[in-house]
Amino acid sequence: MTPSMFRLTFLGTSSGVPTRERNVSALAVQSVPGAEWLLVDCGEGTQHRLLHTRLALRDLAAVCITHAHGDHCYGLPGLLKSAGMAGRTAPLTLIAPLPVWQWLQATYALTAAALPYEVRHVDADAWVWRSAAATLRIERHATLHRVPTHAFRIEATQTQVRLKTEALRAAGLPPGPAWRALHDGQDVPFASAPNGLLRSADCTETHTQRACIVIGGDNADPALLRAACAGAQLLVHEATFTQTALDEVGQQWMHSSARMTAAFAESAGVPNLILTHLSARHQQPEGVAALRAEAAAHYHGALWIANDFDMFTLDAQGMLTLDFSSPARGT
Ligand SMILES: [Zn+2]
Repeated sequence: MTPSMFRLTFLGTSSGVPTRERNVSALAVQSVPGAEWLLVDCGEGTQHRLLHTRLALRDLAAVCITHAHGDHCYGLPGLLKSAGMAGRTAPLTLIAPLPVWQWLQATYALTAAALPYEVRHVDADAWVWRSAAATLRIERHATLHRVPTHAFRIEATQTQVRLKTEALRAAGLPPGPAWRALHDGQDVPFASAPNGLLRSADCTETHTQRACIVIGGDNADPALLRAACAGAQLLVHEATFTQTALDEVGQQWMHSSARMTAAFAESAGVPNLILTHLSARHQQPEGVAALRAEAAAHYHGALWIANDFDMFTLDAQGMLTLDFSSPARGT
């Protein structure tokens, strides 16, 4: 069976304002197996969305904010405060533009609030996180919007050590504590082995699996993500409007149409594309259908339009699956 590498839970898929069906931007990223998770963007109300999922604030390792617009970060002060009230003491990493960090500190100072744990602000282009399941390298890539904005490229590397059990049995070593020791890298005395010692390196094989996803923020020029998407199995990107609607409203808001995002994903050869950050005008079934039809005309990979609470799994072969077993799903 191909191991799963990433699980994505969409917590908000509306642009600008929440609607009854969709909250503003937030996306939980888990490196699986494991409970720990990353949060990419944290629009207002994200902590309420979390209450309908199995994600726990104590397992939140880091928050990545794409840019300082409110629909991507106004949920942060309340969410971090709630984590503290739930007893969190472990430090939390915040990868965010400096204004978001300054605003967060000012909010706590002005509201006489203090967190019982440390928030470590990171303003760097690359950061490495070692979860229980994998090593994740998170890179920032600049995109084009009305304020400085980044996409995040997240590459997960899972290394599994497997014991050569048949060889051990054939050599006369039955399952037991010695197997565990060999698996964990220790050499084990064994009379019938050469020199009387079984070497862990000879008794194990190491398998390494990699997967890579790119999560865009707001962006009026998807082609800026060409380097970020090299070798990626999945792009999550905004498609705020159809091209007709974008031509109507003009480019002053600096967003992408479904056509722009889809044409880029096609040219970059990314095999899976999830569109999100939908304008309220496209959220009814006919609006979603229009976005889908436009994107499908320009992209031939696996195409999805995210709903709040959609949960996707990406495996090590780059196969993306929509998991319907989410405990609550937007109606
Ligand atoms: Zn936005």
